[in-house]
Amino acid sequence: MSRLDSFINRMSAQRDLLNHVRDDLAIPEGPIFEIGLGNGRTFSHLRENFPNRRVIAFDRKLASHNSATPDPQDFVEGEIRESGQAFIGAGAALVHADIGTGYDDKDAITMTWLPQMVAGMLTTGGVAVSGLPLEHPHLEELPRLPTVAEGRYFHYRRL
Ligand code: SAM
Repeated sequence: MSRLDSFINRMSAQRDLLNHVRDDLAIPEGPIFEIGLGNGRTFSHLRENFPNRRVIAFDRKLASHNSATPDPQDFVEGEIRESGQAFIGAGAALVHADIGTGYDDKDAITMTWLPQMVAGMLTTGGVAVSGLPLEHPHLEELPRLPTVAEGRYFHYRRL
């Protein structure tokens, strides 16, 4: 598959899954965490589609588009492996994680700590949406949407 096709699949999977959470999955009270703010596209989508939720974004540096930049109190700068520790137990209703790199060796390292962190951030019944698989005993994988290519994007319910 070309990198262009893979990129398009990732973008459409993000939109389809975030809209699926909005429309079809009841999520508990609580904030939304955006792990990997990047350009702010999915942050902007979260803010528009979950207008009554606080959305807190994490990244090693602020580089989002002006129109998709969180207020300072809703941006956490630093390596998420460290900066996210303070948010374990924070009771998030939804965590979206988009920090895959496309390099298997780098992603393998991320997968040694990300599942535990996401499971710890979520409240019971909360949902995780992630570009990397999150294997954790407290995260139950939800059925793949027909529009999401196999292995492209994942979503889970916190048990
Ligand atoms: N979803 C975003 C959007 O729609 O614009 C794009 C996210 S981009 C693919 C991934 C971002 O995560 C990058 O900005 C990168 O700096 C950040 N990132 C990746 N791994 C990280 C880590 N371990 N700690 C902090 N930031 C990280």
